Amino acid sequence: MSTDCLFCKIIAGELPSEQVYSDDKVVVFKDIDPKAPIHLLIVPRVHIISLNEIDDDALTIHMMRLLPKLAKDQGLNNGFRTIINTGPAGGQIVFHIHIHLLGGGNLSGTGFAM
Ligand code: AMP
Ligand code: ZN
Repeated sequence: MSTDCLFCKIIAGELPSEQVYSDDKVVVFKDIDPKAPIHLLIVPRVHIISLNEIDDDALTIHMMRLLPKLAKDQGLNNGFRTIINTGPAGGQIVFHIHIHLLGGGNLSGTGFAM
C-alpha cells in the first residue's frame, strides 16, 4: 500500500466508495465523476503505478477476463468501452493503475474521447 495513494486508501476502506465487486486481486467501484451511465474502475489491490509498471501476467489476464463479466452483470449486453490512461500525457490523474469500464449509453461514434 502507498500511504498517499487515493485508490490504496479506498481499497483499505479509509475512504468511501461505491463498490460493486471485489476478489483477492481487484476491487471494482463506481467512478465518482461518471462519463457514461455506467462507469466503473477496476483497480488491483496492489499498488502498481501504471501500465508501464505492471509485470504480473496473472493479474493482467484476470482484469481482462473480468471486464466482460462485469459488463454482463451491469446489463451492458450491446457493448462497452474500456480505457486505460497511462502517464500525464495519457490523461492519467490517479497513479494507481485502473481500467475504466464505460457503457449504458450509445458510445459509438464518439471516437477516442470519454
Ligand atoms: P484517470 O484519469 O485514468 O487517472 O482516472 C481517474 C478517475 O478516478 C477519474 O475518472 C475520476 O473521476 C476518478 N476518481 C477520482 N477520485 C475518485 C474517488 N474518490 N472515487 C471514485 N473515483 C474517483
Ligand atoms: Zn495505490
